[in-house]
Amino acid sequence: MERDATLTPHPCDVVVAGAGLIGLACAHAALREGLSVAVIDRDFEGDRASHGNAGGIAVSESTPISVPGLFFKAAKWLIDPLGPLSVSPAHLPRALPWFLAFNRVSRPQHYAAISHALAALNHRVYDDLLPVLEDLGMRSALYRRGALTVYESDAAFAADSREWAFKRELGVRWHALGGADLRALEPALAPVFKHAVMLEDWAHLSDPRALVTAWRARVVALGATLIRGDAEHVDVSRTQAPAVVLTSGQRVGGRQIVVACGAWSATLAKSVGDRVLLDSERGYNTTLPESAATLAREVIFAERKFVATPLDIGLRIGGAAEFAGLSAPPNYRRADALMALGRRFIPGLNEQGATRWMGHRPATPDSLPVIGRSPHADAVVYAFGHGHLGLTQSATTGALVADVLMRRTPRVDLAPYAISRFSP
Ligand SMILES: Cc1cc2nc3c(=O)[nH]c(=O)nc-3n(C[C@H](O)[C@H](O)[C@H](O)COP(=O)(O)OP(=O)(O)OC[C@H]3O[C@@H](n4cnc5c(N)ncnc54)[C@H](O)[C@@H]3O)c2cc1C
Repeated sequence: MERDATLTPHPCDVVVAGAGLIGLACAHAALREGLSVAVIDRDFEGDRASHGNAGGIAVSESTPISVPGLFFKAAKWLIDPLGPLSVSPAHLPRALPWFLAFNRVSRPQHYAAISHALAALNHRVYDDLLPVLEDLGMRSALYRRGALTVYESDAAFAADSREWAFKRELGVRWHALGGADLRALEPALAPVFKHAVMLEDWAHLSDPRALVTAWRARVVALGATLIRGDAEHVDVSRTQAPAVVLTSGQRVGGRQIVVACGAWSATLAKSVGDRVLLDSERGYNTTLPESAATLAREVIFAERKFVATPLDIGLRIGGAAEFAGLSAPPNYRRADALMALGRRFIPGLNEQGATRWMGHRPATPDSLPVIGRSPHADAVVYAFGHGHLGLTQSATTGALVADVLMRRTPRVDLAPYAISRFSP
């Protein structure tokens, strides 16, 4: 049940701003510590990244997006208006500092350090996620069938060999397959793939939206108050108790405040005095309800930069990285371009009832989330910026935020995820 902010008993122990997967994970973990929690969202049922994502528990993705040499490849992609990467000219001036930082982190020393920091989170994922799914009654919604990265050409497979070797050093379990083995595993794929990599620990979920709904219901059952409102800023002035101030002027006070507003979090961090480079990396997909059983597991098409996941609610085909800000309308021709690839590489799809979607990945230039306490305000804790891995790292982020809220030594060293890394 939702409440008007004016009716809420204040202050509670923790106010969480944002009710996507990350905010709900933090709220859930805090409630399980015995803390009282209020969760603010401007629209609890409304669309968000957490609803329409590809559903992958992508624990193998322990290298940053900004790989050495990517800038040159990216320049080529940008020529194709519906290619895997696009930057809107109107958004470019605002995005420039983000892209400069993105380029910087591809240097070898940063690349290795970031990869180890991503791996530290990804190694914990099932330790944290399985008990949460159990508690939500959703254990059977997780399909632990691995995922396949597929290659059309020998050259592309060879070009990725160093990255695969590095991932193995990071603890990622994988094995290579030839075309015939791949066809035996996924007969619906077009017979054009020469190589595949089986990512043994990857899993996928039946339906990401169902997880959000169940998680929200669970935090309410555990006693959280849901408050509908648009968070305008965080007030940590010394004169009053810490509070999230809504655009209506109402204050939602809490002893500690968790900022978990996904791609919208930078404004709230700024109000606390913390700078962050955060952009919306907009992604697209199409869900085909009549083609759900076409594949057995998630497939990542290495050269074409798209993925297909067999969710219970349909085969979801998508990808793309579009930088156009938070308010530009979706360009669904991107979803159509990805769908055209889907038709080509998974022939015979039934497209009846297909639905298209766009969502805002909260992206930092170094692919690391922001998790930890604000250096400017002891009452404020950050949990945002999970980019491509917000579903994967949701329960782990909740567990880490609970450590921070309880002032315990966190189970993972949080230094690499500190917001202070963005300070000049
Ligand atoms: C196409 C695509 C595919 C993806 N595939 C995967 C995948 O396979 N695996 C994976 O792990 N991740 C995937 N992701 C990433 C993942 O979906 C995100 O990282 C994750 O959902 C982010 O969750 P969040 O809670 O931080 O943000 P959101 O889900 O965006 O939630 C933020 C919430 O904050 C609220 N909010 C924002 N501002 C305010 C405000 N001022 N006041 C009140 N409320 C506010 C919003 O209403 C929203 O509910 C994918 C993303 C996309 C777009």
